[in-house]
Amino acid sequence: MTVLTPERRAAQTPRKPTSLFIPELVYFEPDALSYPKGEQIMEWVRDHGIPYRMTTSHNRITNLPGEGELEQYKIAKRTLVVGVRKTLKFDQSKPSADYAIPIATGCMGHCHYCYLQTTLGAKPYIRIYVNTGDIIAAAKRYIEERAPEITTFEAACTSDPLAVEHITGSLAELIAFMAEEPLGRLRFVTKFQHVQPLLGIAHNHHTRIRFSVNAGYVIRNFEPATARFEERIEAAGQVARAGYPLGFIIAPIIWYDGWQEGYAELLAKLAQALPPEAGKDLTFEMIQHRFTKTAKAVIEKRYPKTKLEMDIEKRKKKWGRWGQNKYVYPDEQQNALREFITERIFEHFPAGRIDYFT
Ligand code: SF4
Repeated sequence: MTVLTPERRAAQTPRKPTSLFIPELVYFEPDALSYPKGEQIMEWVRDHGIPYRMTTSHNRITNLPGEGELEQYKIAKRTLVVGVRKTLKFDQSKPSADYAIPIATGCMGHCHYCYLQTTLGAKPYIRIYVNTGDIIAAAKRYIEERAPEITTFEAACTSDPLAVEHITGSLAELIAFMAEEPLGRLRFVTKFQHVQPLLGIAHNHHTRIRFSVNAGYVIRNFEPATARFEERIEAAGQVARAGYPLGFIIAPIIWYDGWQEGYAELLAKLAQALPPEAGKDLTFEMIQHRFTKTAKAVIEKRYPKTKLEMDIEKRKKKWGRWGQNKYVYPDEQQNALREFITERIFEHFPAGRIDYFT
């Protein structure tokens, strides 16, 4: 008789697909209901029997349920706030794009290292914006200002927009808009697999969809509440077959015992799983793990058992754009990571392009 270890048993049991996000509580700004998208979302909320409340501002949710900070944080990650985006001045989004296009803020994922931990501070709930028409009009102005240059917009700077697409439909609108803009390009990155609604859109190759991937060790230990690696890769194949330019972000690249095997396996698995169409126009972005002192304090509070290494003594200090020092790997480790992963990328994808390592 073969005795199965718990790991082998888990590997042999078919796993349920990662489900679509259904919030546990929804807040609406009253103004949001005067937009068709706001009305549609209200209908969706009622159809799903989700409790909802009204709020004066999507930036000030003060009565979240939950005892204590940690419980409130967990509930906030399952809370949706539907509002009107007032700030239509877009932030810069280097090195991935020219501007961040704001269609959502916040995410239900629980990635320990996520920079939203600090940038969203006390507002970890998920905000979605109903005035996509205004957001698109603002994007059009940015494109016109920069003509004849091409202007690129990143839709995933402050959230994972694919994870709420079944509620908002906003990515579909942006993709359709950008398809008609000779000088406009869209890109977004995701850790989810629900690409189905985007596959039939006429995108005109103006939107690049990227999947965030990592070594198995990183996904297992630091990315709870996101889609599994296999699901992301299957979705990447669907996206490539639908003719979208495809990309992968390997981030955060983490130095751990066995990192070479882990990252070699990652690239080998990608090469094995992707259809031939995927290799035609494929980009890679590489981002090494970094943290600030503020992020470290927040992460240790929210994920007290995390194995994420954040030892300042082992890191190199680098001046950050937002006025805070960040801690990256020392040069020797950075170079080893970059060279090793670059070699593996070109070994499996000779026609691939590396956009940056940071
Ligand atoms: S999926 Fe992306 S945005 Fe969401 S928590 Fe993870 S890293 Fe952050």
